[in-house]
Amino acid sequence: MEFEAVIGLEVHVQLNTDSKIFCSCSTAFGNPPNTNVCPICLGMPGTLPVLNVKAVEYAVKAALALNCRINDISVFARKNYFYPDLPKGYQISQYDKPLATNGYVLIETKGGQKRIRIKRVHVEEDAGKNVHGEGNDPYSYVDLNRAGVPLIEIVTEPDISTPEEARVFLTKLRTIMRYLGVSNADMEKGELRCDANVSIRPKGSNELGVKTEIKNINSFKFVAKALEYEIERQILVIKAGGRIEQETRLWNASLGITETMRKKEMEHDYRYFPDPDLMPLVLKPEMIEKWKKELPELPDKRKARFMEDYGLSSYDSEVLTSEKAIADFFESALKFYNNPTAIANWVTVELMSRLNREGIEIVDAPIEAWQLAKIVKLVEENVITGRVGKELLDIVWKEGGDPEEIVKKRDMIQISDASSLEVVVDEVIKECPAEVEKYLSGKTKVIGYLVGQVMKKTRGRANPQFVTELLEKKLSELKR
Ligand code: ADP
Ligand code: ZN
Ligand code: MG
Repeated sequence: MEFEAVIGLEVHVQLNTDSKIFCSCSTAFGNPPNTNVCPICLGMPGTLPVLNVKAVEYAVKAALALNCRINDISVFARKNYFYPDLPKGYQISQYDKPLATNGYVLIETKGGQKRIRIKRVHVEEDAGKNVHGEGNDPYSYVDLNRAGVPLIEIVTEPDISTPEEARVFLTKLRTIMRYLGVSNADMEKGELRCDANVSIRPKGSNELGVKTEIKNINSFKFVAKALEYEIERQILVIKAGGRIEQETRLWNASLGITETMRKKEMEHDYRYFPDPDLMPLVLKPEMIEKWKKELPELPDKRKARFMEDYGLSSYDSEVLTSEKAIADFFESALKFYNNPTAIANWVTVELMSRLNREGIEIVDAPIEAWQLAKIVKLVEENVITGRVGKELLDIVWKEGGDPEEIVKKRDMIQISDASSLEVVVDEVIKECPAEVEKYLSGKTKVIGYLVGQVMKKTRGRANPQFVTELLEKKLSELKR
C-alpha cells in the first residue's frame, strides 16, 4: 500500500518589541542571566501584569498579513503546568478566544501555488530557559531573561503534504515576518520555533491518521529531515502490523532520529481558565484599520508587481522578493539604471552568490545599489565585457569606489575596434597549431579554447561573441 503524509505546524514567533509583554523589562538578547527581570516576570505574588500595546500591534499585523480574521474580543488564559523555567506555575496564553482565526498563506510548490490554511494566531508569553551544568557541574540553572518575552503562536490546518512543503511554508512565514518587521524569525536564534504534527494515511484517503508531534526542531535544515524520518518510521510501524500512538517526540539532531518524549498530555491537564488579572483584549475596528493601513507591501503582492511592472519571470521575482532588503536593493538600483532584466540578473546571480559565499545579508554587503547599477550599465552599454564586469564587481566589493572611475584608471574598457582584435586572433591561431588542426578536421568545439586564449591575452576585455565570429571567419579562410 502506498502512504501519504499529513502535516500541521505550530509555530512560535518571537515579537521584537523592546520590552516584555506584561512588564517593562528589556527583551535584549545575550545579557547576563537573570538581569532582565523584575517581580512581575519573576512571578512574585502580588504583582499584576500590564499588557504591552506594541506586542498587540505586532501580533495583529502578523495575523493580518496571514489573512486572518481579527477577533474584536480575545481573552488571555492561564495554561497551568509545573516546570522550573515557568516561575508563576502558569503561562499566560490565549485559549478558546484567540486573537485571530481563519487565515492562509500561499506557498510555491512543484505542483503550483498551494494554500495552507491558518487555524489560529494567539498571543502568549515566553518561558525562561533551563541551563544544565556541564562537565563536573552537577547543578541545573534557570535564566529568566526570556520569561515574559512576547510570542505569537501560529497554528496551521493539516494542509501540508510533504516535508519540503513544510520547509517552504516556514521560509515563507519568515519572509512575511521580516517584511512586517515584527520579528527577525531566525530559527537558529530561537526567534522562530516549530512543532511539527504528522500522521500518515493510505494515499487518497480522506481520513486523518493518529498523529505524533515533533519538538525541538531548531533549524530550517532539520525541519524536512525530522519529518522525513518520522514519516518513514510511521510507515514501518504500520507495515509491521503495529499502530501509531499519539505522543510527543523529540528530534535528536546528532542521531538524525525522533525519540519518544512523553505520551501526549491532554488539554485538560493544563486546566486552562481565563486570567483574572487581565481584562479581555478588546480591539476597536478603527485600531485594526489603522494597523492594516500601516502594513508594507507584502511578498506575494510585490512579486506580482515585479512580474507585471518589470516583466520579470516568476522565478526571478520570487527570488528577488524573498527578502525585503533584496527587493529594496533591486528597486533602488533601478533608480540609477532602469534596466530591470539586467539588474535582476546581476542581483540574483552575481550579488546573491557573493552574499551566500560570505554568509552575510545584503544590508551588510560592502556594495550599494548605485555601484551595482553603474557596473551593469557599463556592461550593457558595451563599455566593458561581462567578464570584466564581474571582476569590477569584485574590486568594488573589496575596495569600494566609483565603478566608472575604476574602469578608466585600470584600463578595463572593452576592445571594440576590429583591427587590434584581429592582431590578437592571428597571434592565437599561430600559437595553437594543434587546436587549429582539430578545428579544421571538424572538431569545431575546440573553438571555445581558442576564444579563451584571446580573452586571456586581452585580460577579458574582448567581446567573446565578436572574438568567436572573428575566429570562425579566419579559420574558414584557412580551410580554403
Ligand atoms: P491537539 O488537540 O493535539 O493540540 P490540534 O487539533 O490543536 O491538536 O492541532 C494541532 C496541530 O496538529 C495543528 O497544526 C493541526 O493542523 C495538526 N494536526 C491535527 N490533526 C492532525 C493529524 N491527524 N495529522 C497531522 N497533523 C494534525
Ligand atoms: Zn519583568
Ligand atoms: Mg491544540
